Amino acid sequence: MTLKIGLTGGIGSGKTTIAKIFELLNVPVYYADAASKRLYKIDKELMQKMKQHFGDDIYNKDELDRTKLASLVFNDPQKLELLNSLVHPPTIRDAVEWMNQQTTQYIIKEAALLFESGSNAGLDYVIGVYAPQDIRIKRVMERDNATQEEVLNRMARQMDEETKMKLCDFVITNNEQELVIAQVMELDRKIKKLTG
Ligand code: ATP
Repeated sequence: MTLKIGLTGGIGSGKTTIAKIFELLNVPVYYADAASKRLYKIDKELMQKMKQHFGDDIYNKDELDRTKLASLVFNDPQKLELLNSLVHPPTIRDAVEWMNQQTTQYIIKEAALLFESGSNAGLDYVIGVYAPQDIRIKRVMERDNATQEEVLNRMARQMDEETKMKLCDFVITNNEQELVIAQVMELDRKIKKLTG
């Protein structure tokens, strides 16, 4: 049986970077964020609901207008919650479908809002990627060309890092001091042992 392992962490913790290392070890990875971007374009029911709640012009032809959507949900927690309630269920279904097709000893599902969206249900274990807040802010400011205030705003909408890590079964520390490749390889060994 293929073990289903979640991979999560706050913005800038390095989830995607760590997921790529697992991919190098031939572990299939499902990227929830990329999947939802795809679903906005191809899932007819989701598209229809998006138009119903955010207006027809939230799409330009079949292309979601991300800037418009961001401006609508920014600073409006209720609209953000509505958006999440529309996109999370089809993404969770899509992930389950994908996971059921895998045949390796284990797979990874990478998602920023794993616990917040309830998509940890059905997973066997969860790995948390931990990095101190100052490093996360610096990384995201550099990667997204964002201001400190913008990054702090995005962080404020996620579960706090310490609480999130407590919910995880394993933690990888990605603080640019401890070697992450060694930690991933160690976890790969541990997880393979769990599969028996
Ligand atoms: P988000 O939730 O915003 O998608 P994330 O948790 O997936 O973020 P990454 O995109 O993997 O984080 O990493 C954020 C940035 O930090 C990237 O530019 C990445 O290259 C860099 N980064 C991550 N880990 C390290 C590291 N150990 N050393 C140097 N740079 C790193």
